[in-house]
Amino acid sequence: MSSFIPYGRQEVSEDDIEEVVRVLRSDFLTQGPAVPAFERDMAEYCGVEHAVAVNSATSALHIACLALGVGAGDLVWTSPISFVASANCARYCGADVDFVDIDPKTYNLSVDALAEKLSAAERNGRLPQVVIPVHLCGQPCDMAAIRMLSDRYGFKVIEDASHAVGGRYRDESIGNCRYSDITVFSFHPVKIITTGEGGMALTANPELAERMQMLRSHGITRESEQMIGESHGAWYYQQKVLGFNYRMTDMQAALGKSQLRRLDGFVAARHHRARRYDAMLADLPVVTPWLHPDGYSAFHLYVIRIDPTRTNASRRSVFDGLRAAGIGVNVHYIPIHTQPYYRQLGFVDGDCPSAERYYAEALSLPMFPGLKDEEQDTVVRVLQECLT
Ligand SMILES: *Cc1c(COP(=O)(O)O)cnc(C)c1O
Repeated sequence: MSSFIPYGRQEVSEDDIEEVVRVLRSDFLTQGPAVPAFERDMAEYCGVEHAVAVNSATSALHIACLALGVGAGDLVWTSPISFVASANCARYCGADVDFVDIDPKTYNLSVDALAEKLSAAERNGRLPQVVIPVHLCGQPCDMAAIRMLSDRYGFKVIEDASHAVGGRYRDESIGNCRYSDITVFSFHPVKIITTGEGGMALTANPELAERMQMLRSHGITRESEQMIGESHGAWYYQQKVLGFNYRMTDMQAALGKSQLRRLDGFVAARHHRARRYDAMLADLPVVTPWLHPDGYSAFHLYVIRIDPTRTNASRRSVFDGLRAAGIGVNVHYIPIHTQPYYRQLGFVDGDCPSAERYYAEALSLPMFPGLKDEEQDTVVRVLQECLT
């Protein structure tokens, strides 16, 4: 198994390592200058005013919900085809979750299903406070349409862009928050750029930024203009709300800042791999990713569907065959509403038919910038064997 090909892998350069070592030799391992520097670079890259770095996208989703006022009795909607963190953030706040079925072509939350569900929710008198569209595989959701619905029905929008840093929507960077209140990125090593663990929440709204900055560090402020009453002196801080320790370290931020310089190249390399897969898979009984012309995907994942009308091979047998050959295929994702934790809240099979059909057929092939032609050829050759 020396030649195991994973489904995703980070690219760490000597420059990245040097930047981290520089922090290790400096005075600050945390709460130093590297975190604000990474935040500034990321905000500038995305074309947005505020960026709040945290220790994971999960933490970013949690404080994003809290900053938008999500609490007990509230309702948050998201896509069933995502990592569980997209839904769990609402549960941390004591809110209820519901799922909007996916679009059968993009696998993102379906705007038609969202519109229908909103209209029914309005009749029943229980509209969501927040909707969390997820840019699955790095392909942006139909944000302009979601924004129009948010204006009409009054919900807030958090983009879960954990897959999508470096992607674009209508020729602008994902993360600029033109169509949303807050956008969240993940810097886990399988994602597009990494800080080991890490995440970020971006927003154009200064009050939301201030609230998230406070929430990531115990609910504490050291800014006298944010305090209630007078400051007692230079040592003084105030805890205004119940926050957390969700801070990113300076070592992580230095790595992220260094990686960000190569982000566009990483995404271009992923597109090169995707086009090569598209060409090589054209005659196989699989459905390759469909790309909406409004978007430029960050291509975090390359997901194919095994087409049951054109092969008798099951997804299970294809998955097992590839894994046995040392190819780290994966499945993204198990529909969240079918997880035991969510079933226990009342969700059942059949709640999201498109998502469940997708799950039965989906397979993520290895996709990362350092994937070599020969490795990709091996993946396709073994895949073809498994399908016949
Ligand atoms: C990876 C991921 C997360 C969680 O990211 P962490 O940084 O690991 O907390 C959330 N949502 C989606 C869609 C993800 O893929």
